Amino acid sequence: MGKVTGFIEFKRELPKKRKAEERVKDYREFYLPFPEEKIRDQAARCMDCGVPTCHAGCPLGNLIPDWNDLVYNNLWKDAIDRLHATNNFPEFTGRLCPAPCEEACVLSINEPAVTIEEIEKQIIERAFKEGWVLPVRPQKRTMKKVAVIGSGPAGLAAAQQLNRAGHFVTVYERDHKVGGLLRYGIPDFKMEKWVIDRRTQLMEAEGITFKTDVQWGDNVPFDELKGYDAVVLCVGATVGRDLPVEGRDLKGIVPAMEFLARQNRAVGGEPLEENELLNAKGKHVIVIGGGDTGSDCIGTSNRHGALSVTNFELLPKPPKGRPENQPWPYWPMRLRTSTSHEEGVHREWSINTKKFVGKNGRVTQLVTSMIEFEPDPNGGRPKIKDVPDTTQVWSADLVLLALGFTGPEPGGVVEHLGVELDGRGNIKTDDQYATTVPGVFAAGDGRRGQSLIVWAISEGREAARAVDVALMGHSDLPTKGAGDLPRA
Ligand SMILES: Cc1cc2nc3c(=O)[nH]c(=O)nc-3n(C[C@H](O)[C@H](O)[C@H](O)COP(=O)(O)OP(=O)(O)OC[C@H]3O[C@@H](n4cnc5c(N)ncnc54)[C@H](O)[C@@H]3O)c2cc1C
Ligand code: SF4
Repeated sequence: MGKVTGFIEFKRELPKKRKAEERVKDYREFYLPFPEEKIRDQAARCMDCGVPTCHAGCPLGNLIPDWNDLVYNNLWKDAIDRLHATNNFPEFTGRLCPAPCEEACVLSINEPAVTIEEIEKQIIERAFKEGWVLPVRPQKRTMKKVAVIGSGPAGLAAAQQLNRAGHFVTVYERDHKVGGLLRYGIPDFKMEKWVIDRRTQLMEAEGITFKTDVQWGDNVPFDELKGYDAVVLCVGATVGRDLPVEGRDLKGIVPAMEFLARQNRAVGGEPLEENELLNAKGKHVIVIGGGDTGSDCIGTSNRHGALSVTNFELLPKPPKGRPENQPWPYWPMRLRTSTSHEEGVHREWSINTKKFVGKNGRVTQLVTSMIEFEPDPNGGRPKIKDVPDTTQVWSADLVLLALGFTGPEPGGVVEHLGVELDGRGNIKTDDQYATTVPGVFAAGDGRRGQSLIVWAISEGREAARAVDVALMGHSDLPTKGAGDLPRA
């Protein structure tokens, strides 16, 4: 434990942000530098608990108290080694993770949690600055070849682990650049894209091949996959949920990913044709869906110069604190205010869109009703019921549908390989990430359903180990959370 009295002496503190009215003028990240002394004070708040529940809260099993202690003791090089032992990409999670570890932190029982995520980000950025993050090339090659399909965080983690095990890895990406939702979903103001390029350049130097703009059956024949000893499907869950109510076919009602991907391509300098329908400038915008995707639409709309931004969420407004029925250390459904919310939005809860109204083929209004959830006496899913006399009409020039994702796209390579889907439409696997087709594995959102980056990395690592075992009969790749610790 770094400093025995740290959690008493120091209050939780995070870096300051550029002011909302200033940061909405650009797409850059907005956290200001945090002095080293402050980071070490924050690390000193960790109590090095006998039962570090933060470990269990983290899907990667990150060795959090170890690196908190190392940071406090100014042993940054050891800290990055410890962090990299369980997490291939702390620069992604250190910026983007909702930090379930912090909700599970023992200190959070009666004090604000240790700033685990920020310390993680500081460790990896310091390591890059010092030149400690170098390509890790395998000492010998197994001569086995593995294809990873999809270059989101799951695909990248699987590829890096498999390459470290000595296999020749090729990552196939249908988009123009690698990164999946890190690149084309998440806006630059949450993570600038040089962060992905910096890492994938290292991965190339490690010996991984990336093929982008891949159109299966067109510029890349399906038969190319026959040349591999294993295939890992990391294709994400990219089919967006729709809202098939009256008026849905009006212009100006747009799936969130069309809107976000276009803006990310624009910031990334990809050539684009003019499309006024995907620009929020001077418009009354309504974002339907209160999750991460909805929040990113809010931040992007404000940056476009929307006249107003309103956010609808079907669920009731959650409490600010931890609900009684979701005790520590579980992840609580409490009110979260993202940096995009801070920049300006009107939020409505318990509201359902009944129909869209338009003029000359374009959306102009939404008709809504307030709702309540009626519990099912048989313990099934609660039913949604309209609250009488709560009809409202809202003006809207642009409606963004951020209602979640239903699963991987049907057809294409998934269908070609003949893998079965499960009852929810995700790729079916056993507990070793093996699909129903021998030699084909799956990881990430395409397997578990829409989730988080930290889960995608965790699944990519676990699937890589399962592939390694299948190819070699054993694996020296680490199991979850074991990092570089000896395994039984
Ligand atoms: C707008 C938005 C914001 C989010 N914000 C956060 C956040 O702040 N924090 C967080 O933890 N999570 C966030 N998430 C969730 C997170 O991004 C995902 O859980 C994560 O990216 C899933 O990783 P993945 O590798 O499984 O899939 P993806 O990131 O979806 O990557 C799948 C890749 O596979 C490619 N692909 C698909 N089919 C093929 C094919 N046939 N051939 C070749 N390539 C193919 C796709 O083009 C894509 O590049 C967000 C999601 C969205 C949509
Ligand atoms: S639970 Fe919190 S205080 Fe305890 S070891 Fe983990 S980070 Fe430190």
